[in-house]
Amino acid sequence: MHNANDWYEVIKQKDYLYIVRERLDEVDPRYLTTYTNIYLILGTEKALLIDTGSGLFPLKLVVDELSEKRELLVINTHSHFDHRGSNDEFKTIYIHENEVRNASMPFDISILRDSPKEIVNRYSSKNFEYKPPTNVEPLIDGDRFDLGDISVEVIHTPGHSIGSISLLTSKGDLFTGDTAHYGSMYLPKKKNFPIILNSISKLRDVCDADLVQEIYPSHEDYAVGRKLLDDLYDGINNIENIWETKEKYKFLRAWILEDENFKYII
Ligand SMILES: [Zn+2]
Repeated sequence: MHNANDWYEVIKQKDYLYIVRERLDEVDPRYLTTYTNIYLILGTEKALLIDTGSGLFPLKLVVDELSEKRELLVINTHSHFDHRGSNDEFKTIYIHENEVRNASMPFDISILRDSPKEIVNRYSSKNFEYKPPTNVEPLIDGDRFDLGDISVEVIHTPGHSIGSISLLTSKGDLFTGDTAHYGSMYLPKKKNFPIILNSISKLRDVCDADLVQEIYPSHEDYAVGRKLLDDLYDGINNIENIWETKEKYKFLRAWILEDENFKYII
């Protein structure tokens, strides 16, 4: 059995960057994903939390301890359940304008009634519903947050969802949310591949402009290189060629395909 103290793994990656990790496979192995990465950036004046995880255990206490007395901003990379679970612990959540509506409404998570027993017990106390935060503020491409010595820019990268964003710090950290990560990539329908390919191109352009040191995705490996974007771009482009190898995945009502770098869930 887990408790709030051992659920989150806290990693100090840099003086100003913490990773708060949780095991998504322990929430529900059917998502075929091992880790969710929640990030905390500490500026000299403000702190920025990127995503709030699955909401299984209180997150704010962990974040408050790390961010000390700084004012805290919270941004969601998008509004899926594994990124917004603890939104209601915070007063204001920023999210791309395309997902403000989603993030402002209670969210039904009854699909998790079939998760492992410990998880079901915890979620049943929430009646299998996430409460929204008090206040949801819209973001658009190009918005900027000043944390003191570090600034953070919003890059709209739709595809995984219509309001998916990536975040780039002035120190060269690129947070890609679920737009690009190793492991199981949840893609849009084939007809919308140009949208996600365009988003990945946008991120490659940011790398080409020498603005990126490392990439920090919201799942699985972090501090990865630009190769992630190249592998993913090529992989998505090649899906048509391996389309006949697809298998049905009932739980997600989706197709699954695989190449040497990724599982694709479509
Ligand atoms: Zn996710």
